[in-house]
Amino acid sequence: MAQGVETGNEPNKLFDTLLVLDFGSQYSHLITRKLRDLNVYCEMLPCTQRLSELAWKPQGIILSGGPYSVYEDAAPHVDPAVFEFGVPILGICYGLQEMAWHYGKAVIAGEKREYGHANLHLEKIDGKAPHVNKLLEGFDDMQVWMSHGDKLDKLPSSFATIATTPNAPFAGIVHEEKPFFGIQFHPEVTHTQMGKKVLENFALNICKVRPNWTMAEFVDKELIRIKALVGDEGQVIGAVSGGVDSTVAAKLMKEAIGDRFHAVLVDNGLLRLNEAESVRTTLTQGLGINLTVVDATERFLTALKGVSEPESKRKIIGGQFIEVFQETALKISAEAVGPPKAGKIDWLLQGTLYPDVIESISFKGPSATIKTHHNVGGLPANMNLKIIEPLRELFKDEVRILGTKLGISESLVWRHPFPGPGLGIRILGEITPQQLRIARQADHIFIQEINDAGLYRNISQAFAALLPVKAVGVMGDKRVHEQVIALRAVETTDFMTADWYPFDGAFLKRVSSRIVNEVEGVCRVLYDVTSKPPGTIEME
Ligand code: GLN
Repeated sequence: MAQGVETGNEPNKLFDTLLVLDFGSQYSHLITRKLRDLNVYCEMLPCTQRLSELAWKPQGIILSGGPYSVYEDAAPHVDPAVFEFGVPILGICYGLQEMAWHYGKAVIAGEKREYGHANLHLEKIDGKAPHVNKLLEGFDDMQVWMSHGDKLDKLPSSFATIATTPNAPFAGIVHEEKPFFGIQFHPEVTHTQMGKKVLENFALNICKVRPNWTMAEFVDKELIRIKALVGDEGQVIGAVSGGVDSTVAAKLMKEAIGDRFHAVLVDNGLLRLNEAESVRTTLTQGLGINLTVVDATERFLTALKGVSEPESKRKIIGGQFIEVFQETALKISAEAVGPPKAGKIDWLLQGTLYPDVIESISFKGPSATIKTHHNVGGLPANMNLKIIEPLRELFKDEVRILGTKLGISESLVWRHPFPGPGLGIRILGEITPQQLRIARQADHIFIQEINDAGLYRNISQAFAALLPVKAVGVMGDKRVHEQVIALRAVETTDFMTADWYPFDGAFLKRVSSRIVNEVEGVCRVLYDVTSKPPGTIEME
């Protein structure tokens, strides 16, 4: 939902939606993620959410795990209205304990923690209500994954046991009259066999959600939403980088409101070889987007002169970007007002994705204030722009599917991330035109070889960095004293942790030999074999 703007047609009003109430487990977002994979639309909110303040009606509620113990004074608890809301509930781990606590305070500290695999034994019960066996229906005993120290010490009244493990006699429980289920194991992690099927049973068979969350459905509905939000005359501005998120967001705006969306590409002089030009061609000729390219190379490089400290470089690049973007926005806005394009620019497009939203709303503790997501950074205050975030509900892979649906090329949709500071943080130390040339050429060769070897999609991010040191070499029988390139390539699913990519020797040999031969000023090539942590993906 766009900040502060209710249009009545957000996905949670248009699709059958499940609500995950988050108690702060590191796996909470996976519940949402897994359900989306099942084409079930699902949103996560902090466990403190009051249902009376919710602008939409969930069709089922999932209570996540969390690091607290329900019997502690400071433990978080859900709005008791959850249990009177009239929709099915699934409690996972802490969520199970929360349910047991609500129905009779039947939770204590266990004698031993249970962490890792456990054998789940299923109990078929003669329930009075038809729902009682539905959660684990059709399963055999199976391996599940556990992570808890507390346990139920007795069955809350009106509940029956549907599963046990040697260590947890109440590993699965069900309310005998209401469709309320609790499980001690985590169905959202891959280590739990049939975990996805447990979530599917809950969503489809118990909550009766129609699994119609697809990008094809989303795009039609989102175009209508954007049109309604912006109106017939409203205009929108947004920065693009050539990356997948900003390109998909821009294409969506173009489809919805045509040239009333103004894309701005700030060429900060720190882009890769021929990048500004290729982004221009793709966005304008390829996707028909109304684009303004601002060449601010001089300005950025002047501001960066003599600066080598990484944080200072990042701050300068960020600050310059905001200034240039603001100036451009004001200029475009001045030109856009008045006939034939009535209506001034009053919206700013942002490519916020759902993981950013989750990060900002996930439950961080009873005393922590929940910060709202804001990456608006230096909006032109006098323009008074409202934020539009069409990707706000989507995970990255959903954005990629959407991009493909919108006719964006495979290569762009799968492009590796390229952070805003660009080559500015891949040239370690001071940034000069000479250093930029070396970094660009080396990076170009590395990526070209990765593409030629068919490895681009196996790697999550790859680049060449230029180190601020010189090494000795011998070239053409002559002693040289020149610079060093470090290659970096990592595999990761979430960019939180990452592993270096195991290229074979022949590949590295080829890249190294091309770089020292073709890039003047380089006499050595290294390969970075540091995982994250302790390394970061970028070098500065
Ligand atoms: N803190 C609770 C326990 O240790 C719940 C743990 C969890 O939700 N993973 O039992």
